[in-house]
Amino acid sequence: MTQHTDQTVTPEPEQQSLFNEQAMAATASDPAARVEELRRLIEHHTYLYYAKDAPEISDFAYDSLMRELRELEHQHPELVDPSSPTQRVGGYVGDQFAAVRHEQRMYSLDNAMDLNELDEWLGRLEEFFGRMVPVVCELKIDGSSIALTYEDGRLVRAATRGDGTTGEDVTVNMRTVKDVPLRLREQGRDGVVRPGAFEVRGEVYMPKKSFDFLNRAAEANGGKVFANPRNAAAGSLRQKDAAVTAKRDLSTFLYAIADQNAIAAETQWDMLQWLSESGFHTNPDIRRCTTAAEVHEFCQQALENRGNLPYEIDGVVVKVDSFAQQAAMGFTARAPRWAIAFKFPPEEKTTLLRDITVQVGRTGALTPVAELVPVVVAGSTVARATLHNLDEVHRKDVRVGDTVIVRKAGDVIPEVLGPIAELRPADAEPWQMPAECPSCGSPVIREEGEAKHHCISIECPAQAQERLVHWASRGALDIDGMGDEIVGRLLETGRVTDVADYYTLDAVELSMLDMGRVNKDGEPIRLGQKTAQKLVDAIQASKERPLARVLFGIGMRHVGKTMAEALAAAFPSVDQLRAATEEQLAQVDGVGPKIARSVWVFLHTPANVEVLERLAARGVRMADDVVAVDAGPQPLDGLAFVLTGSLVESGMTRDEAGAALKALGAKVTGSVSKKTSYVVAGEAAGSKYDKALKLGVPVLDESQLMTLLETGQLPEL
Ligand code: NAD
Repeated sequence: MTQHTDQTVTPEPEQQSLFNEQAMAATASDPAARVEELRRLIEHHTYLYYAKDAPEISDFAYDSLMRELRELEHQHPELVDPSSPTQRVGGYVGDQFAAVRHEQRMYSLDNAMDLNELDEWLGRLEEFFGRMVPVVCELKIDGSSIALTYEDGRLVRAATRGDGTTGEDVTVNMRTVKDVPLRLREQGRDGVVRPGAFEVRGEVYMPKKSFDFLNRAAEANGGKVFANPRNAAAGSLRQKDAAVTAKRDLSTFLYAIADQNAIAAETQWDMLQWLSESGFHTNPDIRRCTTAAEVHEFCQQALENRGNLPYEIDGVVVKVDSFAQQAAMGFTARAPRWAIAFKFPPEEKTTLLRDITVQVGRTGALTPVAELVPVVVAGSTVARATLHNLDEVHRKDVRVGDTVIVRKAGDVIPEVLGPIAELRPADAEPWQMPAECPSCGSPVIREEGEAKHHCISIECPAQAQERLVHWASRGALDIDGMGDEIVGRLLETGRVTDVADYYTLDAVELSMLDMGRVNKDGEPIRLGQKTAQKLVDAIQASKERPLARVLFGIGMRHVGKTMAEALAAAFPSVDQLRAATEEQLAQVDGVGPKIARSVWVFLHTPANVEVLERLAARGVRMADDVVAVDAGPQPLDGLAFVLTGSLVESGMTRDEAGAALKALGAKVTGSVSKKTSYVVAGEAAGSKYDKALKLGVPVLDESQLMTLLETGQLPEL
């Protein structure tokens, strides 16, 4: 079972201020050298980002470098150089694809890092036109720029932005993106089909869910894991094999026309409508604003709503609405003057790792948790974050006392990305998992091949509820009526702490159990006499269950029903089982050294022994009667069967069919291996059936099983 830790991520009482959060670049003592250094750094990271789709630093860090460089160039005009990254559209044109020269340049956008900077830009607009002009606010989609060329209403070319002048021809790949019209529905509201070519521009992106799915699959197969959906979209688009792109679930939002004269619209707002009517996917979240306050409001709402969107956005783009006014403002070398990207506050922050505590889950799994000096990240306070397991702590190399980078993207669970090595205190030690369970003090174990450490004490309070419910479940001791709610109440009232306590309950006391709810008169609801009596009867009846049920019910790790039966068959009492060595346990069919170890450790943990002793003292049967009976003919002696799927014709359950096979001398195990003689596949058989086919284990269907049980003869296959 996966372990969930509580995240104490509380929303910030006041929305995080969008104003002036960042201290800007430090002044350099040798500006020329610093400029050179910054250019080198930026070029390196630009390459990793655009060519490799594998950034090594956050966008925030990258933007800070860029701004520092721009600032220095501004202060020292003599250092300005046309090949500086500040003068160019960041991008990359590889030789994997044919180059496409853009007839109209594709630009980047200038950024406003907070609302002050956004206001400065709005102020410049007002100054330029002598009044505030209408602007359109759009979401800034975190994907990759794309240009789609249509001729006579048909898609003929798709190109990436590249360096703005030249892009890469990704037509074949873009044809696989489902929401890209290959032919246009109509040619816009004027109804004219234009014979000439026109180019539509926008963003190709990967929805968050598809991104998670892709990365999880990549992790499992050792494939390339992308840093974020933007890189995943860019990487998926630039695949040599379009069939790979087709599988990647990309989508588009279109928001521009390269040559605005190509259509009848005269404003950004109307053009967006035209695009939508022509069959392009456009983003519905847009607003035409005429005041700065409206723009602020849109930005604030976009930020708040960010986590609810199925795709990533990294800001808001504000554009002058009128095409004529856009033309009047023009472009710089890398961006239009008539638009600005308001960037959201960073989703990564640094803070101090105060401590690493350990949380015990319901199944006894131990999870290290980072206890952080609370920090506001992407609009909410983060004080704790799961570190998953010991390996993860070591892989990230986070230590108590470290300054760590914390990331929280939208509503995503906060994550500690890693430490800032330079800020590590000299005495910071690598973290170790405690040897004892913080909940009950029992020794902590970690089994070979497992990521998690576990507390296996039966008495561990953190695990009590699940253990108690499991003991009472149908396949175990089958105490009808003892479900989650009653167990919860018994635990809360302190009346029951482990499974042996069930056998001290009486009907009178149980009938008074406060269920933690009140009736319409405000009186506490109690369990009541009838239910209590039924429960006590069920508890009494459970004392007589076969040993296998006890072994299953007690909750030893890796011991499921089949395994418990195998153990009970080999060692018909708990005493005999406890007396067995690990080697002897490992000899039992299906057990092996790993499970033998788990069973042995469980049965020799003092807290567990004590509960087993109390169970025995209270009358729970801890042994099977071994009666020497004539087992009858054993034609299936030495053969191992696995049953899967449901048996329909015979009306037998799998357990019954298993028992019938055992009566003929067969062993019945739970998992398919090379040692399995036959797999019996009923209806809707799943992975066990697949495994049988893979290993070449013969498969019997239900009618062949029936024949076998009736005649004792194996069918010819
Ligand atoms: P940008 O992403 O800041 O803004 C321009 C782009 O926004 C446009 O080209 C367009 O593709 C996109 N966009 C999304 N929605 C839009 C809309 N509604 N209207 C108009 N455009 C929209 O600029 P960029 O030049 O593409 O990339 C620079 C950014 O990339 C930097 O700000 C940085 O965050 C990131 N970057 C990061 C690294 C790194 O190492 N982490 C390296 C290079 C670049």
